[in-house]
Amino acid sequence: MALEARLNCAEYKNWLKAGHCLLVLRDALRRFAGEQLQAFHRQLLARLAPLGCCRGRCRPRSKQFQSNCSVCAEWKKEILKHHTNKNGEIHWENCKPELWPSDSWELAKAYMPRGQMNISGPEKCDASALLNLFNFCNHFKGIDQKKVREVIRCRNELMHSSEMKASSLWMEEFGKKVENLLKEFQNVPEVMEASRKIEKLLSSDWTVLVKVGEDQLDGLEGDIEVCLSQRQISEIEMELIKERLKEFCLLIEEQEMLSEENLNRIQMIKEFLKDNNDLQISLQADMQKLEGGLEEMVYNQKISMKDSRKESPNPEEDEGC
Ligand SMILES: [Zn+2]
Repeated sequence: MALEARLNCAEYKNWLKAGHCLLVLRDALRRFAGEQLQAFHRQLLARLAPLGCCRGRCRPRSKQFQSNCSVCAEWKKEILKHHTNKNGEIHWENCKPELWPSDSWELAKAYMPRGQMNISGPEKCDASALLNLFNFCNHFKGIDQKKVREVIRCRNELMHSSEMKASSLWMEEFGKKVENLLKEFQNVPEVMEASRKIEKLLSSDWTVLVKVGEDQLDGLEGDIEVCLSQRQISEIEMELIKERLKEFCLLIEEQEMLSEENLNRIQMIKEFLKDNNDLQISLQADMQKLEGGLEEMVYNQKISMKDSRKESPNPEEDEGC
């Protein structure tokens, strides 16, 4: 199936459009997040700079971080002081503590979901990471946290949707929640621009644009801001599915065993890619990484199950669009 045919499925098109909105939102918030983090870092440095740098090669292990040196212990204390969920899960493994005194973005990672270790700054960050930062770091307490959490919930529903579909009712709610959140950033010029773009995007019909083709986009005046070529829509599609595959890889790295629900989700995305050869070819490397992780997980499970002599069920799901 090619892109044009996929877009005939209204709910899949909704899924892509909502994902695109989140990418637009992310792009608009990056500069703001980076500058705010620098300000937050300066604030912490005012107290902690005299301590100098890490003296113990401190390395967090997953969600645990016992520092070897007093410098990192102080930074950790300060990071926790500004955490809105001190007793919840903190992905310390995202951070390189020796960089806390010199790199503001290393601080940000303590307030983000897993998988941020190699992300060097806001320009490499996804929407989920930025929204979680606003939710969990009290430097951003000026932003209505409820509105942030509502968009995080929408983002998770979207990215965890097994079928990669969104109903028009869901889209309506999503549109309202994104709009509500964007109003919190009245002073950020990029966000105001993004707000207009998202409003138009949610009401546009991509099928028309795909049929028109790239070289004729200039003729579509008025709607030019949301006019995307087939290639651009393809790129958005790839980015969203890549994000989804990456999330599964991180989950496999973190957990010894996946829930049946997640195994089903992986099975469904495999079926989906099998039916859409263009995507399967482009996402081959990402898919191989995921398969490799799964094989390793199954191998480890077999070893640990040898004693109990139990067989794990192997669910087979086959659902189409
Ligand atoms: Zn240290």
